[in-house]
Amino acid sequence: MFGKEYIFAALEAISREIIEHQEELNHLDNAIGDGDHGTNMARFSQSILQELPDLAASKDDFGEIFHYMGMRCINGIGGSAGPLFGTFYLRAGMASQGKKSMEAADWVMAFNAGTIGVSQLGKSNEGDKTMVDAMFPAGRAMQAAVEEGRSFAEILLSGVEAAQNGVEYTKTIQASRGRASYIGMRSIGHQDPGATTILLMLQAMYKAAQKLNVE
Ligand code: ADP
Ligand code: MG
Repeated sequence: MFGKEYIFAALEAISREIIEHQEELNHLDNAIGDGDHGTNMARFSQSILQELPDLAASKDDFGEIFHYMGMRCINGIGGSAGPLFGTFYLRAGMASQGKKSMEAADWVMAFNAGTIGVSQLGKSNEGDKTMVDAMFPAGRAMQAAVEEGRSFAEILLSGVEAAQNGVEYTKTIQASRGRASYIGMRSIGHQDPGATTILLMLQAMYKAAQKLNVE
């Protein structure tokens, strides 16, 4: 079980991870899109780092925290990633309403609700070479780890591993959603930037869970 202390540590870790990898994300997006994914996500993450202290002081309901993040993504991230990540957080927030602490199972439920939201908004499914190629497998792996009674850090690690495989899978397929679909077959061989961001987010959450010893 974890409280808001972990959520804020995780949001900070996610922001720093994305800022650290912004060039890599731009590079990936440059190959199959317009090269702005890292810049979009990093600029937003910089603002979030500034806002986190006030947010931590004023909110302790996970539903409200995720809702805030969702609205900020929609208003603050350029490109199609804004509404997509925004929907992820908004749906995760709806699934977390009224919670001031969470069990690992609650987190996985919120994550899966967010994934379904992204998939519905983007009309994207696994195999379309988008962020959901990392999200759906990560959600399934985390759910299986919950059912096996693993610790929260182990659950996140299983999500990281599945997202990593999902990211590798995106290299092998042609994009049929988003900007990368415009280049057709030429998208094959390139890694999806949005799926990579999901992997970075889960990695950051895993590291934060280890650091805070979340059970
Ligand atoms: P844009 O494509 O508008 O430049 P970004 O470069 O910030 O936006 O984000 C691109 C990422 O968004 C892609 O790598 C992909 O993972 C994700 N994406 C794009 N379209 C969709 C969609 N329809 N469904 C899910 N994810 C998508
Ligand atoms: Mg782009």
